[in-house]
Amino acid sequence: MKLYNTLSKKVEDFIPYENKMVKMYTCGPTVYHFAHIGNLRTYICEDVLQKTLEYLGYHVKRVMNITDVGHMTSDGDTGEDKMQKGALREHKTVYEIADFYTEAFMNDIDRLNIKRPEIIERASDHIDTYIEMIKALLDKEYAYEAGGNIYFDVSKFPNYYELSGKNQEDLLVGVREDVEEDKSKRNPADFGLWFTLSKFENQVMQWDSPWGRGYPGWHIECSGICYKYLGEYLDIHCGGVDNIFPHHTNEIAQSEGFLGHRWCNYWCHGEHLNDSTGKMSKSKGEFLTLSLLESKGYHPLVYRLFCLNSHYRSQLVFSYEAMEATKNAYQKLLGRIASIKENRSGEKEVDKIKKFESKFKLALENDLNTANAVTTLYDVLKSDCSNETKLYLIESFDTVLSLDLLEETKIEQGLEQYIENQIQKRNKAKKEKNYELADKIRNDLLEKGIELKDSREGTTYTIRK
Ligand SMILES: [Zn+2]
Repeated sequence: MKLYNTLSKKVEDFIPYENKMVKMYTCGPTVYHFAHIGNLRTYICEDVLQKTLEYLGYHVKRVMNITDVGHMTSDGDTGEDKMQKGALREHKTVYEIADFYTEAFMNDIDRLNIKRPEIIERASDHIDTYIEMIKALLDKEYAYEAGGNIYFDVSKFPNYYELSGKNQEDLLVGVREDVEEDKSKRNPADFGLWFTLSKFENQVMQWDSPWGRGYPGWHIECSGICYKYLGEYLDIHCGGVDNIFPHHTNEIAQSEGFLGHRWCNYWCHGEHLNDSTGKMSKSKGEFLTLSLLESKGYHPLVYRLFCLNSHYRSQLVFSYEAMEATKNAYQKLLGRIASIKENRSGEKEVDKIKKFESKFKLALENDLNTANAVTTLYDVLKSDCSNETKLYLIESFDTVLSLDLLEETKIEQGLEQYIENQIQKRNKAKKEKNYELADKIRNDLLEKGIELKDSREGTTYTIRK
């Protein structure tokens, strides 16, 4: 398996610490609002990575956090408490907000056929772990107390700029606005591990600590949860490219400072989803959620296919035209597969299965070239393989692609094509006076909630929801 590693800025052979066991950590959502489809693109990419590794015979143990502590928008104690803002907006408590949006997020990833990580942990449930790590960082003098807060001293960590490839001067430009706010810090790039001085009124999420009542910095939650559930060595850490700095940069500093050795070997980052105006975000333009796409007639798996058709390290431009084209392609794909399923024939051809499976693997092993993997699926459909072979390969590929390729009736987008196929089959049966088969087709459809009506103009149908 070859994977681009943000740490080395190269495509590298993937070698886990322990043989076929992969420990994988993915940064989870901040649950104060719905996820936008740009965020979901990253989770699709991580899902494909996990399933590819499993396809290649690895066992993957994956952990994800849920950020439910109200963090600031920047590293300084400025910005706003997002959880609090959400709670005020919706007249709920911060905990209700967190529960509601966690549920909404889980719903989104389920509908996208993203496998839920084996371990999903809320940031607010692990305060003790963060305190333990911060204490150790203070003992080792990586951290210091200033103005009531605890900061990480980046000057003590020589590799601080390795992941982002930036230097101190670049970063100073970025943080200059905050300098005045953070007079207590030694170095403007130092980041908060624990805050006792909240700028937010009536902050609800606060906990006791050796340094006073307060709340953890954003970055420590991932270092903490990762350490608690995956131990001292991590194989792959994933997230969106916007996490490279400061979030992942700071995670490395904290974790390696705490552990005293190299922590994670591979850093894997998904690119942004853009719209025609540039980066897509919650704050500008139409707020694109999965539910919005659905309300416009795009099944979540149409969006999944749209993402798979591009490489995870390329920026992808979202448009409704592109969604429409993908929807049509998806419908056709499911229709083709449905008719193969209707005409099961031939034997499984071991050589052809091997050939196409290795082509499929080769695409994915090449830094997750999902577009080529999808092309391989089309190659199978076009090939002279027997239908049994095709179905075997489709099922095999779908363990990674997760497009419900064989469940055409489950998906409305494929349903039309499926019903048309069934009607044609029934017409043919009637023509051949095979009324038993014709009735069987009608009854099978009825069982699925699809009612056929015959008239002089032909056969129409209604779908009972
Ligand atoms: Zn994280």
